[in-house]
Amino acid sequence: MNEILADVPEMKKKPKILIVDDDAAMLTSLRMLLQLNGHDAEPAQGGEKAIERLTAADYDLMLLDLQMPGVGGHEVLQHVRSKGLGIKVIVVSGETSFSAVKDALTEGAYDFVRKPYDAGELLTTINNGLQSRELERQRKALEDALEESEKLHRYIVNNSPDIVYVLDNEGRFTFINDRTENLLGYKREELLGQHFSMLIHEDDLVVANYVFNERRTGARACKDVELRLNINDEAKTVRYFDTHVLPIELHSVGMYNPKGLDGNSEFIGTYGCARDITDRKRNEELINYQAFHDLLTGLPNRALFEDRLKLAIAHARRGKECLAVIYLDVDRFKLVNDSLGHAMGDKLLQIFAERILGCLRAEDTLARFGGDEFTLLLPQISKQENAGAVAKKILESLRLPIHIDNQEIFTSASIGIAMFPQSGETVETLVKSADIAMYHVKSNGKDAHQFFNEEMNNSYTCHLAVERDMHRALEHKQFEVFFQPKVNPNSCQIVGMEALIRWHHPEKKLVLPNDFIPIAEQTKLIIPIGDWMFHATCKEICRWREQGFPKIKVSINISAIQIEQEDFVKKIIDTLDDFNLSGDYIELEITEYGLMKNRENAAQKLRRLSARGISIAIDDFGTGYSSLSYLQDFPVNTLKIDRSFVKDIESETKETCIVDAIAAMAKGLKLHMVAEGVETVAQLNYIKNLGCVEIQGFLFGKPQSAQTTFDLMRQRADGKLESCLYYG
Ligand code: C2E
Ligand code: MG
Ligand code: MG
Repeated sequence: MNEILADVPEMKKKPKILIVDDDAAMLTSLRMLLQLNGHDAEPAQGGEKAIERLTAADYDLMLLDLQMPGVGGHEVLQHVRSKGLGIKVIVVSGETSFSAVKDALTEGAYDFVRKPYDAGELLTTINNGLQSRELERQRKALEDALEESEKLHRYIVNNSPDIVYVLDNEGRFTFINDRTENLLGYKREELLGQHFSMLIHEDDLVVANYVFNERRTGARACKDVELRLNINDEAKTVRYFDTHVLPIELHSVGMYNPKGLDGNSEFIGTYGCARDITDRKRNEELINYQAFHDLLTGLPNRALFEDRLKLAIAHARRGKECLAVIYLDVDRFKLVNDSLGHAMGDKLLQIFAERILGCLRAEDTLARFGGDEFTLLLPQISKQENAGAVAKKILESLRLPIHIDNQEIFTSASIGIAMFPQSGETVETLVKSADIAMYHVKSNGKDAHQFFNEEMNNSYTCHLAVERDMHRALEHKQFEVFFQPKVNPNSCQIVGMEALIRWHHPEKKLVLPNDFIPIAEQTKLIIPIGDWMFHATCKEICRWREQGFPKIKVSINISAIQIEQEDFVKKIIDTLDDFNLSGDYIELEITEYGLMKNRENAAQKLRRLSARGISIAIDDFGTGYSSLSYLQDFPVNTLKIDRSFVKDIESETKETCIVDAIAAMAKGLKLHMVAEGVETVAQLNYIKNLGCVEIQGFLFGKPQSAQTTFDLMRQRADGKLESCLYYG
């Protein structure tokens, strides 16, 4: 209140008085009296003049004669009244009848002074009138200010972005601002008188009961409490509501009456303010989503997967149920990324995610674990075969060619499966077991699925041991070169050999390359091992040469990591020079991956080797992704058809078509073709009919030690080995 009073301008102006009488002498005497007493007074002779003056200017007080010819005093009073003028009228009249006085007062006169007047009495009455007028003026100013202030507050409250409300002491709305209609779809009238709980989401009622009708005040009152309000479903036409609840942040305080006589203040209700926090909630959700999802595929990430798996394990344990964890790794994905670019790699991953999702139930969780690795949680699996069936379905769907930017890309994946509780009972062990099983699929030819078993665990846990032992193997001369013959199926003569490494592990006996070459590649130990292999093979070739055996070409497998080394070419040439061997003794077998990894660099190096007469063969041909255009960049002499295609020849599947296609392509590109993995006569005949003149496989001979091979070469040199070799 004090603040409002302070806004009222002080009345400093001198009051203006109008004297109205038909008698000029009376006018003059009154005017003088007033002026002598410090008042400003203007005369108006007669009622007509008086009305003119009143219309032209504002006066604070009027001394009015009643009986005037023409427009009389009563008419002037009526004029003042009808115009709502705030002027104080003191009737100064010779008419003293009760009814005249009464009439004048009922017509709005402030007071009555009889003529002839007593100067003292008149001045007192005038002063009282002016004081009263001043008080009235001040009250009016105060009222105006209050009205303005209320208007302003009402404007602020109604235009507030927040919901502002007042509750009575029983929790019913006594005020609620316009914002409510916009945010909640309820009209103000619908809510006034209603209990606040009608707006509260049922799950938040308990909290709301503590804070919405807050009784506390000051620092203890409710601040920043999050609640959900119900949105009026029927009001959807008013505003677009994409949800049924409105998240808000609430501030509320209790309201009390001033202290009464008993010294207690009475609780009269609550004032509160609720802010719409939809945007903040959405942002929080987005941040939350990003923290638990992979942005490329939109799938759950590792953290969310592990969380879901943890819950599923608890659930399965309680219900004595099984669940399966699947670990899926895309085969040769790195090749796509390296050769076709990361954008294409990203597209492929998105397509994989979609295809895998297409094979799942709603309750399964597919997550991107990282890179090209996906994990899958299949809860409530009644038997192991069901998980196997899902894996098969996924593998089939991933095998379908993918068309991106006019390119046809063939892909596959390796899948490992771990069952709860057999293969692990915690998140870590289940994921690890599935990973181990996947790793086994990878090293056994990829594109398949396998369930985890304990034996795998042993071989996996020796991963580190393998690395440690491999370091020692070179030193302790545990590696050995084996040779496998390549035979011309028409003449049945040995036309070449492939050098294949073997490891005589002190405890594990003979370890095959698939069990340690991938680890050697990962740890780059393949560089010294490859050097040793090349050296040992050349040494053996020299031994054959010294014995005068007929000259044959020997293939040596080379890893991508070796080609990447700066001194790769130099080391090969130096070794050949050391043994005084010409390049045409040697063929290097490189996989498509090895060629594509660092395409430019590899092509340039291989061209230098090719210039020295060394042949280049593409190993495991047909299993890579890439288009064949790359072949032109490399000095390729031979295509080796991968064993997996030869294996299925008899079953007349699509694999035979691939063999046919590769044969036709080799012929077209005038390349030498070798079929590897020929085990049966049927396979032999099929390959032979395609015009393939070089065959490698168990049908003609398994890889054998250098000494056994040496003996074989001697027999051949002595002419004792005339026909096809069926041994081993
Ligand atoms: P690869 O170069 O494709 O070698 C052919 C593999 O197929 C050899 O396996 C061979 O024993 C096997 N094989 C040949 N004919 C048949 C058959 O009729 N049936 C079956 N079931 N298998 C047959 P191996 O010796 O176990 O070598 C596996 C892979 O290890 C090789 O595949 C090659 O990629 C790699 N490797 C072997 N030695 C070396 C090496 O010195 N350096 C490098 N970098 N890799 C090597
Ligand atoms: Mg090979
Ligand atoms: Mg091969």
